[in-house]
Amino acid sequence: MKSIQTNKLIEWRRTFHQFPEIGWTEFVTTGTIISILREMNIEVKAGPHIICRESILGRDEKLVNEAIKIAEEEGISTELLVEMDGLTGCMAIIDTEIPGPTFTFRFDIDCVYVQESNDDTHLPNKQGFASCRSGLMHACGHDGHTAVGLGLAHWLKQNIHALRGKYKLIFQPAEEGVRGARAISDSGILDDTDYFMGMHIGCNLKKGEIALDPFDFLCTTKLDISLKGKVSDATDEPEKGNNALAGACFLVNEILAIPRHGKGMTRVNVGTLIAGENRSLIPSSAKMQLEVRGQDAEITQYLFDNIKRYVDAAAVAYQLDTKIEITGEATNFRNDPEMINIMQGAINSHPELVNITLPLGGSEDVSLMVRRVQEKGGKAIFFLVGADQSDGHHKEKFDIDEEALSIGLTLFTEGILSILNM
Ligand SMILES: [Zn+2]
Repeated sequence: MKSIQTNKLIEWRRTFHQFPEIGWTEFVTTGTIISILREMNIEVKAGPHIICRESILGRDEKLVNEAIKIAEEEGISTELLVEMDGLTGCMAIIDTEIPGPTFTFRFDIDCVYVQESNDDTHLPNKQGFASCRSGLMHACGHDGHTAVGLGLAHWLKQNIHALRGKYKLIFQPAEEGVRGARAISDSGILDDTDYFMGMHIGCNLKKGEIALDPFDFLCTTKLDISLKGKVSDATDEPEKGNNALAGACFLVNEILAIPRHGKGMTRVNVGTLIAGENRSLIPSSAKMQLEVRGQDAEITQYLFDNIKRYVDAAAVAYQLDTKIEITGEATNFRNDPEMINIMQGAINSHPELVNITLPLGGSEDVSLMVRRVQEKGGKAIFFLVGADQSDGHHKEKFDIDEEALSIGLTLFTEGILSILNM
């Protein structure tokens, strides 16, 4: 079977690394992915076909509009931007038209708010492919995921006559902040999936180490709470104001004091609070950003229910209009044993690869997609691919050993061949 050169994967990864885009604004990235896929004569559907607009979480319209202008400047064609219709991400479809299983693969494409190191020893600087965008960086390896996705599309197209079934490759926007998967999952495009695969590169594993069954994925809900009161002069008529800042302070204290749950781990953080007009006015508005995490969905729901009750209480006590907006969401899951066995088979034929037991202890919105596939009777796996990374995820010197890109691709292709009994 023909496979792509490692050099090509590296070239693609570096192209994406140079132009990182934050979740829901990946217009240049998506435009580039679509163009590369279409050059390979692969069918591609843009964002509007794979995203349920009502289920979008944490999308900032202002950032989106700015990003579309930047994409125009960067040479993304008007046709492509019209096709995207404000929604990033896309799906490649390779249909062998021979009866067989439907495979779905997920590759996330967004970056994080990190300023890339300008240290000479940092490889992207040495080799001239560091981020050209201030304050933005592919510091989580999603540039590598995107490259592997293109590599897989290429492999499938090259070998289409030897394969059976249908292959869908989802290039997902906005994984960071666990925002993108809900809208993709709710669109229904996963529902005919027999086999689902996704991966993450890095995860503090050495190159050659693979975690086929990472566990301890934390459920999380990200929330924005807005409080609206009534402004009034703090000297002349303080009694006429409805104090949103006071309501927010009440909330911070109560939320941080929610009793922990006996059945498992919890995390609660109020990360920001912005409120008020100026020193002499009763503050009429407040906005808070917070997140909760729990060991399972029940515990996370318990945290959310408590917050909701306190917000209702603040509304009554301080006479405020309140709004809770969920801006991100992930849950927990376990890989299907059948899929783990299949991938273990792939690892066994490569002496340089080893399966490592690893608790993740973080959150990933692929969890929503895995759950959806499993609920509809499909089998799913999300595995981690070690890459001798040079710094932690979301850190300024994060970098991967690019040979890990071929390892990731090999696991996908061998997993497919094993499922097809080839
Ligand atoms: Zn990531």
